[in-house]
Amino acid sequence: MRLRALVLVLAVAACAFPSAAPAQADAAPAADAVAVLTAARIHTQDPSHPQATAMAWDGEGRILAVGTAAELRRRYPQARRIDAGKATVVPGLIDAHAHLMGLGYALMRADLSGATSKAEVIERLRAFAATAPAGAWIEGRGWDQNRWPEQAFPTAADLDAAFPDRPVWLERIDGHAAWANSAAMRAAQALEGARPLDGDWQPQGGQIVREGGRATGVFVDAAMRLVERAIPPPDAAYREQALERALQVAVANGLTGVHDMGVSREDLALMRRFADAGRLPLRISAYADGDREALADLCEHGLYRHPGGRLQMKGAKLFIDGALGSRGAALLADYSDEPGNRGLLVSDPQAYAAAVIKARDCGVQVASHAIGDRGNRIVLDTYAHALAGQGARADHRWRVEHAQVVAPEDLPRFARLRLVASMQPTHATSDMPWAEDRLGPERLAGAYAWRRFLDLGVPLALGSDFPVEQVDPRLGLYAAVTRQDRAGQPPGGWLPGQRLSAAEALRGFTAEAARAAHDEAEVGRLAPGLRADFVVLDRDPLAVPAAALDELQVRATWVDGQPVHTAD
Ligand SMILES: [Zn+2]
Repeated sequence: MRLRALVLVLAVAACAFPSAAPAQADAAPAADAVAVLTAARIHTQDPSHPQATAMAWDGEGRILAVGTAAELRRRYPQARRIDAGKATVVPGLIDAHAHLMGLGYALMRADLSGATSKAEVIERLRAFAATAPAGAWIEGRGWDQNRWPEQAFPTAADLDAAFPDRPVWLERIDGHAAWANSAAMRAAQALEGARPLDGDWQPQGGQIVREGGRATGVFVDAAMRLVERAIPPPDAAYREQALERALQVAVANGLTGVHDMGVSREDLALMRRFADAGRLPLRISAYADGDREALADLCEHGLYRHPGGRLQMKGAKLFIDGALGSRGAALLADYSDEPGNRGLLVSDPQAYAAAVIKARDCGVQVASHAIGDRGNRIVLDTYAHALAGQGARADHRWRVEHAQVVAPEDLPRFARLRLVASMQPTHATSDMPWAEDRLGPERLAGAYAWRRFLDLGVPLALGSDFPVEQVDPRLGLYAAVTRQDRAGQPPGGWLPGQRLSAAEALRGFTAEAARAAHDEAEVGRLAPGLRADFVVLDRDPLAVPAAALDELQVRATWVDGQPVHTAD
């Protein structure tokens, strides 16, 4: 069904019929403001009333009733009617771990992925430069010389003819190398204290690619920093544009809520301006960047809540370790593919514990990034200590972000401490080609172990960690249910015992995500009194074959009973 086929019938006011039906809110609203949506099916995520075919909400976008079309049309005869035809409606999808500004910045860069020649890269950059702010650095991402006829690294000279003066900086597809033009290298060279890029020295952990002692324009790993630090920080207009783009892309993908993990003071101020101006098409539950001033702000001023209901500061995001791909995740034993390396802690455990205690004492929910089994254990030990102390709230719902590799004996501690596992299904399918190399077969028992958490009764909130993974939650549903890449590999799925059902995956992106941010009285389900945040899908995610979950079409995204995105 196409969205333009949605029938919108506007009716004039008379009166509503408050009835004693079970699924109904108390207050009788002005009938002219009431809307009744009908669809082939509505999955409510409300255990007392899991499926319906109609839903009514008031002018404020609060759900009044959920039931059958006949029932609700009888009860609200004057209501505006919206017929979604054969479509399936589900609660608005919530990404429980993501980075809106990061997505916005990614969207502000030229997309070079899939380009099959340097000429195509330059063509795409010219088109991009025409729309980018004049004079600004041209940044891009996604080139891969393996796709080009010559299959060799490019050079600055390849870019200089098209861009003689404007600095150009292009990250390779894997993010581990970048390609600069001569203007970018000149800017890097002009920085105070910069060492000459030419010569025979190399930075620790990186490589300046040279020919005959001259930098060619390609910088690998830590050497990328030598040029990156010359890029001016984004100004206010750039940041505003980045957020705007991220929000549009998010709602187009069916997201009605994002738990933004690591919001700085500056980011929050920008989001507040958007909220004030009515420019937030979805709900942001923000977690303050707890390592900096934001946690201090939370303790001083309390949790922020915008009166419009679309922006709230929920807690603090802390970090303990790095990531598995770069062997930065802190492990209890050596990396299987690098003896002697156990990863690294990005926070000193004492400083981390102090931040956790401070958050507890301010009544702030804590969300900690932990990837490796050592990182997770430190978080569990720290939480256990803090939660046993004075001032801990019974319903704290402290979160472990990623909870990616957990020692099997530590898994039950999540349940005992009443923690939330906030996990990203696409991380498993992105990491599966090399995760066993890093960890060996035994440690995989507690890796990406969604099913084990659920079986232990640990709430599982799902997200994408965009822009690390793609923003599209359909890919998360697909990965959760198949544990396969999009080509259907490996057959049967990777560590298939950990697969989720479609219903569990959908719950992770709706009701459980909402609960993880203490938002369950507002969103995550479609029930009287909650917000009319929902997504119209062409097919039923609980009925299509698992392999088709990534092909569901988002027809429309609604927030507060208003469409914020319509396909077409
Ligand atoms: Zn993240």
